[in-house]
Amino acid sequence: MHDANCIFCKIIEGKIPSRKVYEDEDIFAFHDINPWAPVHFLLVPKQHIASMAQLTPAHERLMGRMMLLAPQLALQEGCTPYPEGGFRIVSNTGALGGQEVHHLHVHVMGGPRPWLRG
Ligand code: AMP
Ligand code: ZN
Repeated sequence: MHDANCIFCKIIEGKIPSRKVYEDEDIFAFHDINPWAPVHFLLVPKQHIASMAQLTPAHERLMGRMMLLAPQLALQEGCTPYPEGGFRIVSNTGALGGQEVHHLHVHVMGGPRPWLRG
């Protein structure tokens, strides 16, 4: 369930501080420490899953819930509504996907441009 060496598992457990955006039984969301955009938070499953490459049909509901939360939390965190506003979601997977933290996460970015990246 948890990986003792994983920074996001430690954030979920409260062992490393974070600026929490949302929490329920299965999902945790917190602001990225190095934001690329005026709004930039990460949605993560509480369960340690290394990346999207490890997903199985058992994760269908969890991933579906994360995708439904993204637009709700984007608005809550200050993204302006679709279609003039909106947001971008990114899930880096593996070395060539640019993944640095190996606990599955979805970046949600938005707010007025220009952005630093993305
Ligand atoms: P990725 O390259 O997709 O694996 O992105 C990992 C993200 O985690 C980066 O955008 C980092 O800024 C972010 N990050 C790393 N450590 C922390 C932390 N302690 N709190 C919040 N965000 C973090
Ligand atoms: Zn983890």
